[in-house]
Amino acid sequence: MIKRVVIIGGGIAGLSAGIFAQKNGFESIILEKHQILGGECTGWDRKSYHIDGCIHWLVGTKEGTPLRHLWDLVGALDGVEIYQPESFLAFEYQGIIVNFYRDLEGLKNSWLEISPEDKQAIENFYNVIKKLQSFQIPVGKPIDMMNLKEKIKYLFSMKDIGPIMQKYSKLSLQELASKFKHPALRAAINSFMPEGDFSAISILFPLGTFTGNQSSIPYGGSRALALRMVDKYLSLGGKVESSCEVRSLTIEGKDVKNLKCSNGKSFSGDYFIAACDAKVLYKRLLNGKYDDPNFQKRFNNPQVYPLASNIYVGIGYKGTMSNIPRTLRFPVDSLNIKQNDKAVTHLQMTHYAYEKEFAPEGHSIITLAINQFEPELLAWEELVKDEDQYKQEKKRIGREIIRALEIRFPYMKDKLTLLDVASPQTYHRYCNAYRGAFMGFWPTLSGKGLTHTGRIKGLNNIVLSGQWLQPPGGLPVALITGKDTIMRLCKTEKIKFSC
Ligand SMILES: Cc1cc2nc3c(=O)[nH]c(=O)nc-3n(C[C@H](O)[C@H](O)[C@H](O)COP(=O)(O)OP(=O)(O)OC[C@H]3O[C@@H](n4cnc5c(N)ncnc54)[C@H](O)[C@@H]3O)c2cc1C
Repeated sequence: MIKRVVIIGGGIAGLSAGIFAQKNGFESIILEKHQILGGECTGWDRKSYHIDGCIHWLVGTKEGTPLRHLWDLVGALDGVEIYQPESFLAFEYQGIIVNFYRDLEGLKNSWLEISPEDKQAIENFYNVIKKLQSFQIPVGKPIDMMNLKEKIKYLFSMKDIGPIMQKYSKLSLQELASKFKHPALRAAINSFMPEGDFSAISILFPLGTFTGNQSSIPYGGSRALALRMVDKYLSLGGKVESSCEVRSLTIEGKDVKNLKCSNGKSFSGDYFIAACDAKVLYKRLLNGKYDDPNFQKRFNNPQVYPLASNIYVGIGYKGTMSNIPRTLRFPVDSLNIKQNDKAVTHLQMTHYAYEKEFAPEGHSIITLAINQFEPELLAWEELVKDEDQYKQEKKRIGREIIRALEIRFPYMKDKLTLLDVASPQTYHRYCNAYRGAFMGFWPTLSGKGLTHTGRIKGLNNIVLSGQWLQPPGGLPVALITGKDTIMRLCKTEKIKFSC
């Protein structure tokens, strides 16, 4: 008899699980809280502009790599060209531009021009990134399903990366930056994360995949990518129920029997996959009765296991952005916006000149992302309780950003229109993201990365899937864990997994 799988959440993990469930002979349905699927991998239209809300870089765009193959299997990149930006970002420091070029030789040479006396530190930085260029996120079997031979092979494949991981996961970003003498290089590296316990890994792995051409940007953006996965899922016979928030589960013994949704419908199944926020599953749906100590420990200790979110501002500009790097981080004076309890000192601006459909002709869409950490996440949680004040604060932030842009780019004066300000609470409202966090727990010096199978002790037929199961979170982890969940289900059902 065909087994029925009910998937809670239609983000990238839920879609991945749904696609592989259909491919393996299960009958599945995805229940999604929002009107459209994609979860945090999305974008939204404001006035005549499209604000891309997610992909700044997607790991797995390089043809011929295992991760690219997996993205292809779920239809995410079907018929899509990949845009390869020249630079990961450009950082401004007192008239100097520090470029994080895709071309690693170019990066090295441009940094040497800025600071010849940092030759040794630049060489070391270059060498580490060079080694990381060949790192492939494992996408085959999850470790818990590997036999001894496969585990040995897997460990062997990590032999070059292991020592780098060990060394740099114990080095803070500030320590890495302090190896450089030139203040511009130091500031550029430091700007990746606020002062604190954040490990140097936060900069090295992204630059490794970027300069190794493994990560880039699919044309069409985030929403289009998610919708291609929806098409793939539907074409395989999958079913979708949107505007359908799962509110409660009926559990008998060790099995979930059915679940009830905000639209009054209930759904029964043989298996349930919670491809949603971990906190939603453990606290709201399981009422704290099946808490997992691995997650508890992390949620209870945000200093060691920080969560991060964003203020994400969309601005329309009546003009074009030629000569401005795609992503530019520039200094700002006295901006009254907090980040990790300190005033924001830099703004990160991205434009989408390469996407002709994102703005009317002769205009540009600009987004600005300001990371938010624990102190701000709590403050936003409080503020949202007063709707008027919350809206006013978002408007105020929008005005502050426009003011800062006009100071940095005087020719933009009176040509900027505030389109949208998303706060951490926006991600909470639309995606049920706990405190707005969208990347799992951030790597720190004292925190240990969590790798989890998603199994829930005490329950047989419901599992967690998605970005919370593996560091560092993000779209590849959502994709991989969705697939892994179905691999484990196939094992339980004694079905040979087929992709
Ligand atoms: C501004 C921003 C920029 C980002 N940039 C990048 C990037 O450049 N590269 C990258 O790799 N990653 C990036 N990410 C992270 C990436 O978007 C996420 O890691 C990924 O989308 C998570 O996918 P997921 O399926 O695990 O979770 P989600 O996307 O959170 O999906 C969960 C889904 O479950 C639904 N849901 C929740 N509760 C319920 C319920 N009770 N009933 C029904 N449905 C429910 C939600 O609405 C949501 O659709 C970014 C995220 C943001 C916000």
